[in-house]
Amino acid sequence: MSDDYTTLLGALKTWLSHHGRGVTLVHGFDLFPFEGPLPGEVPTEPSLETAAPGSVEVSQEPAATRKPPPRGDDEPPTDNDPPPYNYDEPQGFEDEVDFGFTTDPAQSREPEPARPDLAHLDMTNITMEDLRSFWKECLGCKLGSTRKNMVFGEGAVPARIFFIGEGPGAQEDEQGRPFVGKAGQLLDRMIEAMGLTRDQIYIGNIVKCRPPGNRDPETDEMLSCMPVLERQIELVRPEVIVSLGRISAQVLLSTTRSLSKLRGSWHTYGTIPLLATYHPAYLLRNPAAKKAAWEDLQMVMKQLNLAGNT
Ligand code: SF4
Repeated sequence: MSDDYTTLLGALKTWLSHHGRGVTLVHGFDLFPFEGPLPGEVPTEPSLETAAPGSVEVSQEPAATRKPPPRGDDEPPTDNDPPPYNYDEPQGFEDEVDFGFTTDPAQSREPEPARPDLAHLDMTNITMEDLRSFWKECLGCKLGSTRKNMVFGEGAVPARIFFIGEGPGAQEDEQGRPFVGKAGQLLDRMIEAMGLTRDQIYIGNIVKCRPPGNRDPETDEMLSCMPVLERQIELVRPEVIVSLGRISAQVLLSTTRSLSKLRGSWHTYGTIPLLATYHPAYLLRNPAAKKAAWEDLQMVMKQLNLAGNT
């Protein structure tokens, strides 16, 4: 055997062993256990060039009138059987054979997740409840399939301040309300320290559905959800946006700068002043940062002429 043939044989054996098929060596050739035509398969015509003289009977019958190959189960033909096989008739390809899938790229694409189309939503005279109802069935990204409840946002409309976090956590997912866990309780205290109550401000998130395992929301998820946040901001008409945490600040300001560089000075979202501060969940883990967060909130109070509660 030539080297090329040996290499090819080795590769074939490896492939077969990986695919769980037995190999039998017969006269130097590897044969599949299911060698030969399967029932209903067209038998391969013997080659007159390679067959031993006298070993092959050649039919003199015209091809078009030959009988179909024998059925594998030897049952007599029934009325439901296909017509006799015509060897000369072109059998066609994917335009005639149903493979159970389409090769048309337009038809074989995964269906787009359902996201309500906000493009043509007339925002005139719409309320936040209208917007919530419009968006409540959203499956615009993969988070829609794992959430328990959408956490749309809540608070006063209009409101002087819109607090925006990155996404709901486990408790929020359970209750369908933003900032209701321990971080939410700390946010309530921060709001009270500013001389306000929770029902005087609006609270929401960049994404409305909980990222599994409290991971960061992914870019495609945030992009899918941003249109509804933009409409919420339009309706709330806040005098100030306070972003909570790095992700919220980076998304709203379209930047990759770190939170430590972003906080401590004013930015704008469109024409609305925006102040970036720490997420309350971060403050729970790093209480030493509460002082800096309070300094941020004092900047907001000064901007809005709030006296505070201290
Ligand atoms: S995160 Fe936003 S875009 Fe994704 S399914 Fe939930 S509401 Fe829709």
